[in-house]
Amino acid sequence: MADLFESAKKQLDRALGHIQISDDAKEILRSPKETIEVSIPVRKDDGSLKVFTGYRVRFNDILGPTKGGIRYHPDVSLEEVKALSFWMTFKCAVVNLPYGGGKGGIIVNPKELSRQELERLSRGFISAIYDFIGPEKDIPAPDVYTNETIMGWMADEYGKIARYHTPAIVTGKPIALGGSLGRGDATARGGYYVIKELVKQKKLKEKSLKVAVQGFGNAGYNIAKLLHDDGYKIIALSDSKGGIVATNGNTLHPDSIMKVKREKGELEGVYCEGSVCDMIDHKKVGHKKVLEEDVDILIPAAIENQITKENASKIKAKIIVELANGPITPEADEILRKKGVIIIPDILANAGGVTVSYFEWLQNKAGEYWELQRVHDKLKERMVNAFKAVSTIQKDKEVSYRTAAYIHAARRLIEAIDAKGTVEYYRGK
Ligand code: GLU
Repeated sequence: MADLFESAKKQLDRALGHIQISDDAKEILRSPKETIEVSIPVRKDDGSLKVFTGYRVRFNDILGPTKGGIRYHPDVSLEEVKALSFWMTFKCAVVNLPYGGGKGGIIVNPKELSRQELERLSRGFISAIYDFIGPEKDIPAPDVYTNETIMGWMADEYGKIARYHTPAIVTGKPIALGGSLGRGDATARGGYYVIKELVKQKKLKEKSLKVAVQGFGNAGYNIAKLLHDDGYKIIALSDSKGGIVATNGNTLHPDSIMKVKREKGELEGVYCEGSVCDMIDHKKVGHKKVLEEDVDILIPAAIENQITKENASKIKAKIIVELANGPITPEADEILRKKGVIIIPDILANAGGVTVSYFEWLQNKAGEYWELQRVHDKLKERMVNAFKAVSTIQKDKEVSYRTAAYIHAARRLIEAIDAKGTVEYYRGK
């Protein structure tokens, strides 16, 4: 992932060409504010000790405390965490949250650890970064291969060290530990509201739209389900082990597929609706092949760098909605842009997760619980407003949605940076 952070900065550079920006702001927006690397010793179940490496980056906190998930993955690197914290900075600004951007990660394959080992690792990480985070400083959340149980352990560990109840230290917690209703499917739901708005704007017919989703974790499963329930045709789905594509005019049923995945550990086309087991006509493909299916909307919902210069020209979808962070490389982005593909960028499309995290944090600070409908209504309002603002810039400046989203976010960041004093101010002009 050595060049992921460089790629991320290229996206910003393209946007900065379209707006007025002070040299101060340009400098500040390119460098992470604070970075920490920690060693986390974990006692394994067999009594041996293993030391894991973890990172947390607070990229920029001009708009508020830094906010962003913690991922557990064997490929985590400092470069990757920097890039992800950079994206969080712009993501929070796109949806107008009073947050800066942060991110964390541990180099680990969580599937190789027992539950108890995973708990010791998660608690150990919080203990190691205790001084770096805080409910008004840096607030972690779930990301790839971390979930609400892990967030619960983390919040509990922080409270134990602090010796007071601090639910607002972590979001994405179980409801019983101060989590918010609606956080579970928030990333997908935010993307779903954006897709509905785009479909309305482009005057497309919902019921005839074919969709492929890469990734069948929290984001991938929930977006497939929400769209399926609205009549969109889910044609292709994949997880890290492989993909399935419906053939002969069939569509895939996300709930049935999730049931089979839970039972068998992989996606496949044999599934049960009610008490009747059917064999849906389908073919099995590689997990990256689903990206090349002949669909209207493609939703990468897994990890970064999935659409590259090698496969970009094979993409047939006319709309791509980035539910994953950074799934398209800058070279691929250019190829797709020339082909006229509409790309709704990650910093807008997947901002629903952090938006409901913000609602959770507000509830924790106020000692309140919101109804699910209130969470959905407020999420929809933020996502639709952000989409409309980005669309207006996209049309006015004749730029891509990605560049428009960066322009929209950068304006907020630049205004805040400049409010602290500009070169003109200090030179008395
Ligand atoms: N990990 C999610 C993201 O990349 C959510 C972050 C959060 O809720 O703070 O947006």
